[in-house]
Amino acid sequence: MASLIPCPHCGQRPKEEFTVKGAALARPAADASREAWFDHVYLRENPRGRYDEHWHHTSGCRRWLVVTRDTATHEIAGARDTAARTETAK
Ligand SMILES: [Zn+2]
Repeated sequence: MASLIPCPHCGQRPKEEFTVKGAALARPAADASREAWFDHVYLRENPRGRYDEHWHHTSGCRRWLVVTRDTATHEIAGARDTAARTETAK
């Protein structure tokens, strides 16, 4: 059974229409320390469980989404447009 991604613009679509671009982490403030930016750009956790990732609907609406996926089961818990995301890291 194919995995379906609930695109907020196109509805349920097969995962093959998307390109995964990695962790959707809160971006540091523009004046954050070099260490904070180094951590943001280069260091990643390898969590087990729900994790937010950036997915691009390449063969659909071409919007960037934040998809919440379980890293152990690959179950998709939800998806939202990146424009709906407004928080930043401290
Ligand atoms: Zn879409």
